[in-house]
Amino acid sequence: MKILIIEDDKYISAFLRVSLEKEDYEVLVGKDATEGMFLFSSYHPDIVLLDLGLPDRDGGEVIREIRQMSETPVIVVSSRSQEAEKVAALDAGAIDYVTKPFHMGELLARIRVMERLLIKLTLSHPEEEQFVCDWLTVDFEKRRVLVDGQEVHLTPYEYKLLCIMIRNRGKVLTYNYIIKELYGYESGGAEGVRVFMSNLRRKIEKDLTQPRFILTEVGIGYRWNDQ
Ligand code: CA
Repeated sequence: MKILIIEDDKYISAFLRVSLEKEDYEVLVGKDATEGMFLFSSYHPDIVLLDLGLPDRDGGEVIREIRQMSETPVIVVSSRSQEAEKVAALDAGAIDYVTKPFHMGELLARIRVMERLLIKLTLSHPEEEQFVCDWLTVDFEKRRVLVDGQEVHLTPYEYKLLCIMIRNRGKVLTYNYIIKELYGYESGGAEGVRVFMSNLRRKIEKDLTQPRFILTEVGIGYRWNDQ
């Protein structure tokens, strides 16, 4: 499990690094948003620990940038303890929030929760073995997605979203339903779902102006069409 720390306070990042390495995590440290994003796109960490008060950019912007690219869980580790700051970070797409000063034991417990979630996402699949329709094949056994016989890579959240849609094919799924299925609890807004859905569409649809599989139900959510 690879963890990226984006933190400008070198004492905190050194403490985090040592504590995490002791638990056998692989650790990368970026001292500001620019270096953090560079490490993020170069090394694809599994989890990001993010400070909000960074010298070059606000952490909230970093969360949004990460969300544009992937579903990697971001845990905010910040001294900003205002409720509004927490809500803003969660709305931007952070998955959890730890206030400084923090107990390493608590942070490690939250990281383990994320790990379990990531493993569950990787393993979860509907009961059927395969879904085949037109150009799309989803092999749930092997967890492979093929478009015209060519394998496409989906992130864990995209794959889970695809499974949720196929399992409920034909039904209109509300944003709230999808959020709950995807994360296991109700959190944040529909923004994350929209991002994952548009990534998923880009990967499996041929005509984005007239999607074959993922239909938008305006103002409500989405429906999987296999008719
Ligand atoms: Ca800081």
